[in-house]
Amino acid sequence: MKTSQEIIETTERYGAHNYHPLPVVIARAGGVWVEDIEGKRYVDMLSSYSALNHGHRHPAILAAVQAQMERVTLTSRAFHNEELGPFCEELARLCGKEMVLPMNTGAEAVETAIKAARKWGYLKKGIKRHKAEIICCEGNFHGRTVTVVSFSTEPDYREDFGPFTPGFKIIPYGDAKALAKAVTKNTVAFLVEPIQGEAGINVPRKGYLAACARICRERDILLMADEIQTGLGRTGKLFACLHEDVTPDLYILGKALGGGVYPVSAVIGPAGVLGLFRPGEHGSTFGGNPLAAAIGRAAIRVLLDERLVERSDEMGAYFMERIGRIDSPHVKDVRGRGLLIGVELKKKAGGARRFAERLMQDGLLCKETHEHVIRFAPPLVITKEEIDWAMERIEKALKMK
Ligand SMILES: *Cc1c(COP(=O)(O)O)cnc(C)c1O
Repeated sequence: MKTSQEIIETTERYGAHNYHPLPVVIARAGGVWVEDIEGKRYVDMLSSYSALNHGHRHPAILAAVQAQMERVTLTSRAFHNEELGPFCEELARLCGKEMVLPMNTGAEAVETAIKAARKWGYLKKGIKRHKAEIICCEGNFHGRTVTVVSFSTEPDYREDFGPFTPGFKIIPYGDAKALAKAVTKNTVAFLVEPIQGEAGINVPRKGYLAACARICRERDILLMADEIQTGLGRTGKLFACLHEDVTPDLYILGKALGGGVYPVSAVIGPAGVLGLFRPGEHGSTFGGNPLAAAIGRAAIRVLLDERLVERSDEMGAYFMERIGRIDSPHVKDVRGRGLLIGVELKKKAGGARRFAERLMQDGLLCKETHEHVIRFAPPLVITKEEIDWAMERIEKALKMK
């Protein structure tokens, strides 16, 4: 058997270096726990960037995978399959919407929402073809395709990857007035994360999203909520938009929709928008395949049956209360909602990475986001006892020299 070190060396030698992982090789997992090759156990407080809301290898989701694998896994959209219709119906109902367009990864779902909004602008608003504008926010993260990084404001994400896709306008995050000012006759949509995850768990001021929703309604533009990371219970509500009683026109979902096993994403919205697509105009070989649809259905079922949204709210409040009590010389701010929590460190703390490395040694996996924020986002199935266990380690790390 190979050691962790040998595996890491092979990965570094033959795999492109587009990530900077912590030096741990995960070999097994279950619930909130993972185990490395040498048998050391860790509590997972990253949850694959919130793709593991249900925990690792949830038994009901694995059972759905197994059952579907024994029937049919791939049909392409050239034919129908039994799972896609019920998946779309159940997801549409969950979102209070009429229609679903299934994809695989988050970035593809964002691209799909952009295409849907542009088409809606041309067909329904009479905007001159190829003039549509979409408004986005500074610090956004919506994925890695060329079009999506075209409206990123993060130099690393774009510097060497232009030329970019036109048609996007950037405004400051958290400033509804800037949105009102940026709208023109060519604007079709406002694309926003209700909480900016990758930017460092930025929670906008109360009332921001509701104000944006009002502006979108008044100016007849689509509100497109990227809830890929914040959705499906992560922030203590089914969707983070619900903290302000906002229903966006389009939901963009991914990550946890795949139940922690498989990429499943979707755009969910009114028939007046998604119904505009005609055969041949958009698609994906794997999007909506029967295995993905069966997994998506199981992910929704488990979320509701196990009341994971309520758990996230309760455990998140407990986590926040506990971490708030830690008296650390390094902490500048603790923020978040539900089980999406960011600890911002002071500049002189020496960067979040060394804290993540220390926590790893002590059996807790988390990751820095940007330079100075540690993100804690455990699976929503975490218990109070497990939070207590983690908190002992977090306290030690935050008090180190
Ligand atoms: C992860 C993420 C994406 C991209 O999803 P991928 O599956 O990695 O393409 C888009 N938006 C947000 C808010 C995300 O957190």
